[in-house]
Amino acid sequence: MLSQRWRKNLIEVSRHLSRFAFAIAITLILTQFPFDYVESMLYDARVRLRPQPVPSEHIETIVIDDESVKALGRVPNATEIKKIIERLSSAGAHAIVSLVSPLDFVGSLDETRALAQTAEHTPGFVVALDDVPIDGDQNALKLAPPFDKVATASAPVPVDRNIFARDDVTRRMMLAYQGRPTLFPMLARDFNSAIARRFDANGGYTGDAFHGVFDYLKSDQAYVQFAPSDSYHAESFHEVLMDDSKLAKFKNKIVILGRDIQTTSKDYVRTPYSRDIVAMTIVELNANMFDTLIRDDAPLKAPLWVNQLITALISYLTVLVVLTLKPVNGLLILGSTIIGYFFISLLIFWGGHTWIDVAHPCLAIFVCYYFFIPYRLIIENRRSWEYYQKNKLLTQVEELKTNFLSMMSHDLKTPIARIQGMADVVKGDTNPLSMRQTEAIDTLRRSSDELLEFVSGVLNLGRIESKAIQLHMNSKDVNSLVREVVSKLEYLARSKHIEIRTELDTLFSIKFDVDLIRQVLSNLVENAIKYSPEASSILVTTEEGEGCIIIQVADQGPGIPEDELPHIFMKFYRSRNAKGSAIKGSGLGLYLAKYFVELHKGRIQVDSTLGQGSTFTVELPTA
Ligand code: ADP
Repeated sequence: MLSQRWRKNLIEVSRHLSRFAFAIAITLILTQFPFDYVESMLYDARVRLRPQPVPSEHIETIVIDDESVKALGRVPNATEIKKIIERLSSAGAHAIVSLVSPLDFVGSLDETRALAQTAEHTPGFVVALDDVPIDGDQNALKLAPPFDKVATASAPVPVDRNIFARDDVTRRMMLAYQGRPTLFPMLARDFNSAIARRFDANGGYTGDAFHGVFDYLKSDQAYVQFAPSDSYHAESFHEVLMDDSKLAKFKNKIVILGRDIQTTSKDYVRTPYSRDIVAMTIVELNANMFDTLIRDDAPLKAPLWVNQLITALISYLTVLVVLTLKPVNGLLILGSTIIGYFFISLLIFWGGHTWIDVAHPCLAIFVCYYFFIPYRLIIENRRSWEYYQKNKLLTQVEELKTNFLSMMSHDLKTPIARIQGMADVVKGDTNPLSMRQTEAIDTLRRSSDELLEFVSGVLNLGRIESKAIQLHMNSKDVNSLVREVVSKLEYLARSKHIEIRTELDTLFSIKFDVDLIRQVLSNLVENAIKYSPEASSILVTTEEGEGCIIIQVADQGPGIPEDELPHIFMKFYRSRNAKGSAIKGSGLGLYLAKYFVELHKGRIQVDSTLGQGSTFTVELPTA
């Protein structure tokens, strides 16, 4: 016994283990493929759905926009750029980051030299370049004369063009290349003491300490915590150039200067918010990059093992669901797992600034689902085939049994009739019989009556099961049928000193099969007599109901236990008490009664109180 249970447990455990092994295998295979495009799209959805980050107050932006060009009558020249640098410097700007090279501004030789002088000597002025210098190439970031002494810094704009999602969207920023920090951490450290601590005493940079930093091809990178486009209010170049009241806001700020005149796509990037070619200006992108570092909230990409663990667990759940639940429930659970998991990933991104993999777990659900559905179908098919075979066998046995019973019953009817006839002949003989002989003949007669009733019941059952019963409807007054049945059974009642009373309302004749309903009423009254104690009384009533005629047979018998009530109309059912008593019966009477009443589209039911009696109610429709 124990070993059998152990065996069962062992089989169960090994079943779970093999499912888990499958889940791990699927995970390992799936995670070989990065699915960067899908994952990045889901990442972008999270960026859009989470609450927007609030820009810090340390950044201001100035753009050379269409209004500036209109106001100045042309693109600003070297003199105007020089003037704006001077104005910003005197306003106390902490840093002036120019995203446009001073070489791009038109001016005479003197004007250009003057700009170079100002740019070179203005503290905090820096030209941000897209290049990253490699080790040993010290002049890589040097501008051409006369700007060769102007401060420059590397501020590249990484685009997912040939790597990761390959959809031309900018999601990342570069913090350092070959250990040398880019402009972003260098300036951000002035506004966030936590970041400042990540530079050592000599200004050396320890990049890994930034939230979300990851290594990529000799560089330290991090994902930008984007705010949507236009979150940073950009001032127009000409207004800052001319309006003194505008200057106060630049005090102690990182001021980013760039272009927004749609003359070159280099001035714009695509972002997780929009794939439009002019989705965001480089100026605003830089503002987002600085702010990500100042807030130190760059999204952290969860390590591979975390994603693998999640994918394995979800694969296992899918296998379990597909193999054990009903298909509709399974689909519902898997659908809600996908949606629920996305929302969890959104919450983790929002609250924990952490990017967990969504593409692999979702794909794992599809792969496991499509892998295991055919397997489940095969199992189900085999099971239903087995059921079908069993069912077929049972039907055959049932048919054989019914045929046999019908045959037997039919053949029994004639000898029983003969016994009854002979008993009647002996009883009616003029020769007087002794007491014992009369008693024997009476017992013979009663027993053959019971046998005949049983045989008729079985024959009727056979007819029902072969669907051979047809209704022969005739118009008749139900009351007259009730009287006929009661008077026929009165002799039986009298033998137990039972009184049968009738209360019959005047009724219209209705159409019904007289033979069948006679059998129903006989059975109910006979049962009432059979199960009632001596000297009790039975009440048979009829009345007109709504669209039906109601016939009730109420007795003062033992009643029927509540737990047996649902069964008494079943084939061959006899109550525990009846089986244990001397009262004879086949358990077919009520089954046939219900069948016959329902053939008339009527209803039969019973109310019974244990120890007080039972009332059987038959409703026959009037039309
Ligand atoms: P049976 O041949 O056993 O009477 P029936 O189908 O007529 O078969 O009745 C099924 C069972 O319902 C009976 O065995 C009996 O326990 C119960 N029953 C039927 N009528 C009454 C009644 N008037 N009083 C108490 N029990 C009854």
